[in-house]
Amino acid sequence: MFSKILIANRGEIAVRIARACSDLGIKSVAVYSDADRTALHVRACDEAYHIGPAPASESYLMGDKIIKVARKAGCDAIHPGYGFLSENASFARAVVDAGLVWIGPPPEAIELMGSKIESKRLAEKLGVPIVPGYMGDSTIEAVETHAERIGYPVLIKASAGGGGKGMRVVESQHELAESVAAAQREALAAFGDDSILLEKYLTEPRHIEVQVLGDNYGNLIHLGERECSIQRRHQKVLEESPSPVVDDDLRERITSSALALAKAAGYTNAGTVEFIYQDGEYYFLEMNTRLQVEHPVTEEAIGIDLVQTQIRIAAGEILGLMQDDIGFNAHAIEVRLYAEDPEHDFLPSTGTITKLEQLQDARIDAGVTLGDTITPYYDPMIAKIIVAGATREDALNAMRETLGGLQIEGPKTNLDFLRWLVSHPQFEMGNISTRFIERYYRPGAFALAPPQVAVAAGALKAIYPNALRPPDDHSDPWGASPWRQARQNIQVSLIIEGHRYDCVFSSRSGGNNDWQVRVSQGDNEVYDGLAHVWLKDSREDGDNFGDVPPSVQLQLGEDAALYSLIYNTDWDDAFTLAWEGREFWVRPAPPLSTQTLATNLRLANEDTLESPMPGKVLKVFVSEGDQVAEEQPLVIIEAMKMEFTVRAPRDGKIARIHYAEGSQVAVGDVLVELER
Ligand code: ADP
Repeated sequence: MFSKILIANRGEIAVRIARACSDLGIKSVAVYSDADRTALHVRACDEAYHIGPAPASESYLMGDKIIKVARKAGCDAIHPGYGFLSENASFARAVVDAGLVWIGPPPEAIELMGSKIESKRLAEKLGVPIVPGYMGDSTIEAVETHAERIGYPVLIKASAGGGGKGMRVVESQHELAESVAAAQREALAAFGDDSILLEKYLTEPRHIEVQVLGDNYGNLIHLGERECSIQRRHQKVLEESPSPVVDDDLRERITSSALALAKAAGYTNAGTVEFIYQDGEYYFLEMNTRLQVEHPVTEEAIGIDLVQTQIRIAAGEILGLMQDDIGFNAHAIEVRLYAEDPEHDFLPSTGTITKLEQLQDARIDAGVTLGDTITPYYDPMIAKIIVAGATREDALNAMRETLGGLQIEGPKTNLDFLRWLVSHPQFEMGNISTRFIERYYRPGAFALAPPQVAVAAGALKAIYPNALRPPDDHSDPWGASPWRQARQNIQVSLIIEGHRYDCVFSSRSGGNNDWQVRVSQGDNEVYDGLAHVWLKDSREDGDNFGDVPPSVQLQLGEDAALYSLIYNTDWDDAFTLAWEGREFWVRPAPPLSTQTLATNLRLANEDTLESPMPGKVLKVFVSEGDQVAEEQPLVIIEAMKMEFTVRAPRDGKIARIHYAEGSQVAVGDVLVELER
């Protein structure tokens, strides 16, 4: 095994590799530019060497300088991370020529797979499906003929491309010549190679990639797939494994294709074969001959340390894992927290991190900490947040909680955008594609919904739950609502566009449409007042109720407005509300924390105290006729190992106790009545 490794990178990936080194008992060496003198990766390594000014071209891309440092520091090997020099075959060769070990695939494999054209030719030869396209000479006549054959829209790509650079969608023939010229210029400037290729532009694809791992002795396995369809500017924002769309049969086919390609390329170490998928078919895109940003998704889903494995393989160890050792029993999700502004086309932002708090325990791979500055010189990624669970739903819930408990101040970030994303009903259903953001996201989408919308949504849920039945359910939306008859106080919690609202409706004088309503959003009370609520039948003559959902009409003070309901039938318990030309999606929220419950209970009708949750009456502290003081504990309810104390909302006398210790109660059951 190595004794010292130089990490030719910065940021979170350098920190990540340093951690793997330390776990293996290997010393790590950092390199840094002027802008990174005090960076976290410098602090994370055992030694650090300055290699030049801030621009990457004068520091992190200076291969010769880095190799000199490695030799001077007495390193045995270099880990390139991702980006920078990681897919540079000449650098890999120079590392080997300097007597050091390259922690990555053989330079020949990097070269072969680094060309989109060459690797697609290889795929074609192996019978791996590729997107219909053209890879011949780029005279405009030839390109025009082939674009016509493929059919518009077509995508022009730089053969040497990466990171979405040099890619252009062409909608029609009259844009073609100009786009080809521009793509060639861009490719030459960015990659020193102006070869381009044409591909059919798939309109609603998903990005699915397969992680492969091979040693120097011919052992080659796959670690399943990752889905990375959520992208902005062809760059990934959220990745998960397994993909919600991949079943066993597709997994078998797509991973076999990936292994066939890796094998034919003589691949060793960790790599990723990328595909796009649409309408049941998958097509090879390219191979990334390095560790990917999103590798933790596979690590958490499978339970394997990829970086340690990379190092072991490079050190000549045999890959101890067989394909059958790899299980696909967990679901992992990663989001990328970026310093960028989702309100302005996701443009990068900079600044010093002045607040950083994590309330929920989760894996966070970060390259910065509190007090660090995001500079304009490098990638604006702040951290990757990775969670796993037994199912996709579990993982999603964990991600929502983790993001909910994250606080960051300083540069603008995409945190609110990520919260919006992981709560989006279409995302939740797995209905995603690379156009997801374009399709569903609008600047301001994650801004708080206006309070009226929260009241209307809460009113529907609390007062007219029957109206929320799916449209093919033809029962009477006004039908005897158990809520209306039996309940005085109704408490509902909702998530509207990713934000949680807690509502309490107290009926004013039993049975009419007037309610006292309180709605809070986090610590803020967004509405406290009267609401006149009624359901309006929007069906036209002769229509079934199911064709036109009813609307809820709401009068808050002087303002009356109509909120139309739009159903999501395939999504349990959720609904969409339209108001003033905007649509708001609403889902039920998980139960309140005890603290919020306490606040809300006190808002409720003060004469009857209801059970906030279904459970067992654990303790009754008072008897009928007792005088009690505000805040005095009256009853403890226990559910799901959580105890909740119902306290007196004010001074008063206990008029009645409805349940004895040991009784089971449902949410909303009256526990105690209080007299003035
Ligand atoms: P790069 O190497 O620049 O990252 P890729 O070939 O890996 O480029 O493609 C990046 C992303 O661009 C894909 O994940 C996908 O979203 C989109 N893309 C690539 N090829 C196509 C295509 N033929 N049709 C539609 N989208 C594509």
